[in-house]
Parts: sequence; C-alpha cells; structure tokens
Amino acid sequence: MSPVMVWSLPDELFYSSIIRDFMRSGMSVENYNKKVFLSRKSKANPLYTVQLGRLANLYKKDVDEVFLSGTILPYFMIFGNHEYRVKIHDSFSESRNVKRLLNLTNFINNEEDCLKFCSYCYQEDRVEFGVPYWHRSHQYPGMVACGKHECLLISTRVDQDQRGLHFSLPRPGVNGAEASIDEVNISRVVDYLISRFVEGDGLNVNRSLREMLFKSGYLSLSGSTRRKVLLRDLLAFSGGFPNVSSGLLPSSEIDYKYVSGIVSPALPQHPFKKFFLLSFLLGDVEKLKESLSTLVEESVVSSGYSCEDGGLERSPLPDKVHAHNQALMRKHQSRIINAIKSNPGAKRQDIREACCAAYYYLYNNDRKWFEENMPRKIKARCNGKVDWGERDLELSVVVEGYLSGARRLVSLNELDKAVSGRRWLTRYRHRMPICFSLYLEWLVNVSA
Ligand SMILES: [Zn+2]
Repeated sequence: MSPVMVWSLPDELFYSSIIRDFMRSGMSVENYNKKVFLSRKSKANPLYTVQLGRLANLYKKDVDEVFLSGTILPYFMIFGNHEYRVKIHDSFSESRNVKRLLNLTNFINNEEDCLKFCSYCYQEDRVEFGVPYWHRSHQYPGMVACGKHECLLISTRVDQDQRGLHFSLPRPGVNGAEASIDEVNISRVVDYLISRFVEGDGLNVNRSLREMLFKSGYLSLSGSTRRKVLLRDLLAFSGGFPNVSSGLLPSSEIDYKYVSGIVSPALPQHPFKKFFLLSFLLGDVEKLKESLSTLVEESVVSSGYSCEDGGLERSPLPDKVHAHNQALMRKHQSRIINAIKSNPGAKRQDIREACCAAYYYLYNNDRKWFEENMPRKIKARCNGKVDWGERDLELSVVVEGYLSGARRLVSLNELDKAVSGRRWLTRYRHRMPICFSLYLEWLVNVSA
C-alpha cells in the first residue's frame, strides 16, 4: 500500500485517487482489491464507497474531509435534517446499509454504475496536472452539465466482472455537446450550495426554500402549497431540461405527487428535484447568492441562534444588539427563577401562566437554559374521552404566548410541534377553531 496516496487534485472524487493509486502500484486487480477492500472480488461502488472511515485511515486521510470533499454524499445531506446527516455519515463510515438509507433503489435511474466526465475538463486536467481524473462535481445524480464549460457530461458505465471493478480513468471519444442554459445553471447552483455546505456555514436550505416559496406566492397564508399553480409553472420550466431523465421532472398537469414531495422537508426525495425547484425560484446562481445572503442575514439578526435541525449556527451579532439581547435574556431568566422560588411545587404549566412572555422567550431563544431550569415535564395521561372545546381554549393561551414571542415566520407544523407536540393543530385543526384562527390572524399580521 502506498502510504503517500495523492488526493489533492481540485474537486477529485476520492474513489478516483484510489484508481490512480492502483495504477501507480503495478499490482493486479485481485491483489489490489484484496489489500484495499479486503476481498479479491471487490464490489465497491465508485459513488457510494462504503467503509470510508477504514479507507481514509488506510490512506492516512482525514475521514471528514474525505467524506465532505471526496464523495457525493453532501448532495444527499444538504436537504436532510441533523439526524439524517449523522445517519448517512455513520453508515458510510462503517456499515454497508447505504442504499436502503438513501432510498437509492428509488432514486437512481441506472446512474448507479456510471461515472461522468466533461471532455473539456479532461483536456484541461491533462495539461495542468498531467493526468485526467473523475471530478466529484460531475457525479451528482441527475445532473447532466459541466457548469464550467457549459457542455453535456459524458456518461461511462463502470464495468464489473467476477473480479469486481475495472479501475479506469476517463477515456474520451468525442466532445460533449452544448447543454441548455437551465441545465448549466442548475449545475452551478448545486456546486455553489454544496461548497457552502462543505465550508460549514450551516445554511438551512429547506427553510430557505420554504421562505422563497412563500415570498413567491406559492404558499398560502395557512402554510399550504398552491399546488396547481406551482405545478403548472414547474411544468413549463421543465422544458429547459431536454437532457435530464424524465423521471426527475414533473410529468403532467396532474402530477401533484411531484409537487407535494419537493415542498415537504419530511419526505425523502431525489435531491435533483429539490435543486430543480430552487433553480426555478431563483433563476441563476448570482440571484441565489444574493437571495441566500439576505435570508441568512435576516435570520441571524432576528434570532442570533441556531436552528435545531441543522440551521444557522450562532453568528457574531453587532455589539449593541448582542448586549441588548443578553440583558433581555437575563431579565426573563430572573423572572422565571423568581416564579419557581415563590412556588416551589409549581408545574411547567404554572410557570407558563405566571410569566408567559419570559417562558416563550426562553423557550425560543435559550432552550438549553430553559430545559435545565424549568420544572420537569409531566407526561399527560391518556384519557379516552377528550373535551376538544376545553383543549382548544386551554391551548389557545399557549398559542398566543408562543406566537407573540416568535421573531420569524413560523409554519403551522412548527407551531404544532412546539405547543402541542401531538398534531392537534395540524391533523385535528377542525377541532381547534380558536387556536387555528389565532394562527391565521398572526400570519396575516406578520405578512402585512
Ligand atoms: Zn468541464
């Protein structure tokens, strides 16, 4: 094994550097497989290389760096929440249960065994680095264009036989044809967002997507999607992607499933579809940069704190704002502490009633302090007969308190999670008319 494997070419797929190492080694495929993959018949997949942790150690590389810069996994992680990201990370580092995790059988249309390259990048790489190689940014499933050269990528099947993979580097025949402007744009959008993701700026793409949908009028005030209009517009936009697999684009004016899937952060989707929606909402990467920086600034100034689901990391605030926030925080904390002192047996609910504003300010802005200092949560006992009227009334106080402390747009789902945690406001909203109308009223005021 070469202890000095070179994996330093710009944008190189980690797997590509393994191939180059194999070529330098002069070993047979079987022997190399046995050494690297611990089996003579390696079934290693170039795109979904498992045991990354072990391979990175073997080649003396930093596993996180390999993971983030040498694989296409960030493409899948970018729309996932924190848990999903951790799951992907762990499963690639150790186990082999990867396809099931990413729903790859549903997602990948015959792309699984293909590697793509750009014939112009190939020529440039040979001149500049003396060797062609597989670029990471060309391998994202669904993408068809090189954002740099505005041409179509050339797809090559990765041959396998009983010995396992045939290791090879790009072998061009003809140059890639010109790609459409939309196909080029979407590649640039992906490159840009993934580079930000890799740099760890903590951008919450799902939330930004929803805010863009809202600003563009595709989300109604109640938080539901205007599916018909959105689908019609997406269908028209899909005409600009003649080389993309039709399975990744909306199929007809009644393909509502497509729209529901891409606007919901909860449903696992092919990442291409989400990037397709982003491209549609923003046009090109310059507008995307502008719009994302506005969204980031708005969120940072309004909260200064991170979102739990992999959202914005805490960022430095201007001194004055920071000092003001700290003072406010201390004021609310001392209110809560006094309330607990004056009523040591109080439940959470009692504290909430005694100092509603402080309760929700801290719940929203310093959850750690909140959980450490509040009386313990008491689990509600299950009662077969529910008085929905009474529940609606009781919860309406909570809803009002929560919304008055909210400093950004809150979806009905988020509100439900925070105040009931039991889908009372979403699934049973018809039984909670007071709460629901409170929310609508708040939305109208906020949007005005
Ligand atoms: Zn290129």
